[in-house]
Amino acid sequence: MPVSGLIFNIQKFSIHDGPGIRTVVFFKGCPLSCSWCSNPESRDGQSCREARWYTPEETLKICLEDRLFYEETAGALPLSSPEYSGGGVTLSGGDALSQPQFALELLRTLRKEKIHTAIETSGYASREVFEEVSGAADLLLFDIKHYDNRRHTEGTGVSNDLILSNLKNAVARNKNVLARLPVIPGFSNSAEDARGFASLLESMKLKRVQLLPFHQFGEKKYELLGLPYTMKSVKQLHPEDLEEFRQVFLKQGIDCFL
Ligand code: SF4
Repeated sequence: MPVSGLIFNIQKFSIHDGPGIRTVVFFKGCPLSCSWCSNPESRDGQSCREARWYTPEETLKICLEDRLFYEETAGALPLSSPEYSGGGVTLSGGDALSQPQFALELLRTLRKEKIHTAIETSGYASREVFEEVSGAADLLLFDIKHYDNRRHTEGTGVSNDLILSNLKNAVARNKNVLARLPVIPGFSNSAEDARGFASLLESMKLKRVQLLPFHQFGEKKYELLGLPYTMKSVKQLHPEDLEEFRQVFLKQGIDCFL
């Protein structure tokens, strides 16, 4: 029996989830519960109106429809190179690690077709799952919600111990890692937060980071799903709001972009 994955969206022509033009496969399921989550429909791993089961082959077929667009943005570099600027497929969610067997099968199937792959993850998974799935992807888009364990637990419902340990492990294995920081007003947007994140990245020898400014794109979904939304009155952040925050990283020699 081929393993199937519960997917709630397959989005084409994305330019925000890894290099180049990409197809993003959104997995159901996430072990965190961030109050700012813009995909609340993804969080439980249950089947629902938005989601359906896909086999890896079926998902591959959809991804292959846009192969031309992935290649259009690709250079002559190998897929695993950090400088690779071409497109491909990103497994997101939810969390790509929440359905590890399907993620693994899909990544292997895509690799056979020489399509660049990325996984978007918070890194909260057992070491075994993390190593196996991340080992099959060309790029890890690794979201760090907070460097401070207490704040991390308050904001996401889980400790960051396992997450940071997996991040360290990915760096030690020479994986191509792009650290990403969701910048959330009142949670992770102060100058002190920027300094804390910068020293964490420095201690892990991570030389580049992407900032993800808080937005309200998910607001309507909470209404539709009948879920409480506590971030309603929080203002969205724009690139100009993050300039000072960004400078903290640049001053420490970390390439920081939005
Ligand atoms: S880790 Fe991402 S998908 Fe999971 S709850 Fe937080 S924001 Fe939502």
